[in-house]
This record gives sequence, C-alpha cells and structure tokens, in this order.
Amino acid sequence: MSNTIRSKILIIEDDPGICTFLRATLTAEGYDAIVVSNGGSALEIVASHCPDCILLDLGLPDMDGNRIISSIRQWSAMPILVISARSTEQDKVQALDLGADDYITKPFGTDELLARIRTALRHKRMASDNSEIALRGSYHVGDMVIDYRKHRVTVAGENVHLTPNEFKIVAMLGMHAGQVLTYKAMLRELWGPSASTDNKILRVHMASIRRKIEPDPNEPKYIFTEVGIGYRMADSED
Ligand code: CA
Repeated sequence: MSNTIRSKILIIEDDPGICTFLRATLTAEGYDAIVVSNGGSALEIVASHCPDCILLDLGLPDMDGNRIISSIRQWSAMPILVISARSTEQDKVQALDLGADDYITKPFGTDELLARIRTALRHKRMASDNSEIALRGSYHVGDMVIDYRKHRVTVAGENVHLTPNEFKIVAMLGMHAGQVLTYKAMLRELWGPSASTDNKILRVHMASIRRKIEPDPNEPKYIFTEVGIGYRMADSED
C-alpha cells in the first residue's frame, strides 16, 4: 500500500471493544481509520469526509444499519462492508440487496476482514478509472480468462463453449470478482426488473457452467456458492 495516499476507512460501530480492535488493526495496516458510534453522526461524517470504504455494524443504538445503506446508496457508490452479528441468510440478502458490497459475520478473522477491505478498495478504483477489465478487456484468475471483447472464456488456454446466458453469468461475476452477488441481483441483471425470483434457473445454469470451467465441479475454485445468498467469483489476488 502506498504511504502517500492512505485510504480512509469509516467504522460505524457502537461496541467499544470492536471499535478499538478495528481501529488498531486498520491503523497497523496503514489505513486512516475514523470511528463513529451512532447512525446519525455516521451519515454526517460520510457526507463530510467521503471515506474510501465503510465498515458498518447493523445494530446501532439510534437506527438500523440497513437505513444507512439505503441512505448512502441514494447518492454514492462508496464501498460498504457490513460487519454484523446477524447471521441469517435473510439478513445478508437484505443488506446486499440494499446495496452493501459485502457482508462479514461476527466473529470474524482479521485476515478475512483485510482481504475483503482490499477487494472493496480495488473495486472502488476499478469503478473510477483503471480497471484491469477496462484496461485489458479481460479478467484473469487461476487458469481462467474471461475475454470481454471477444465474449469468450478460456481455461488453461482451451476455449470453453458457454451459452449466451452462461457467458453473461460468468462475465457478471467476473466484473464483481471477490464480491458476493445475490440471486436477486443476478436475476434482475440477466432478465430485467420483472425477472422471476426463482433461483432454480440460476442453479441449473451454474451447474452447467461449473461442468465446463471447473476442474472439479464439486470443489469449485472459480465460482463459489454463498448458500442461500448468491455466488462469488474468486478474486485474482486471493
Ligand atoms: Ca452493535
């Protein structure tokens, strides 16, 4: 990480122990960490400080963290990582569908947290200008290459014969590599706002995609299932 430009990370969390831990961990990694313990102040600070990434607890004393996600998404695409003790699939899907970029369940591992933050920050950069995909027209991870210009996927140099819908799914996950995409977000992207909410069709496509791209479809190394939530493509820097 560059010493000249420190990424600014806003921690929205009311548990003092977790705040102290997060601040120390992020500072040690060279980030500029700001802490705020309630939702009202958080929204003001988000607007005034424009952080590069937000770590958001959902259970705040004055409001539900989901309200913060909705509020920020009305005007900004800044990365939001939810860190919450709420661990049901429904909680995760709700936060992700409202626009959170990722979701980490408490208790969490430091390495995992830092990896997710790096992914979020990389996406912010990609969204702005120098995306690997925009630059090279392709996404590379392991032996797989998604060629966005030629609409083609290769694994170990071999062309993979995907149907148009299968290509769309792989391409979409590649654009968001490292991030989980919910079933709903994928269905909406593939078939429009009135798309069915039936995940079965995605599962059928995914089974076929995995047979074509994964060395072992039962132990995927390119596209992971987040049970009950959606799919995540392996990050090239993992
Ligand atoms: Ca809390």
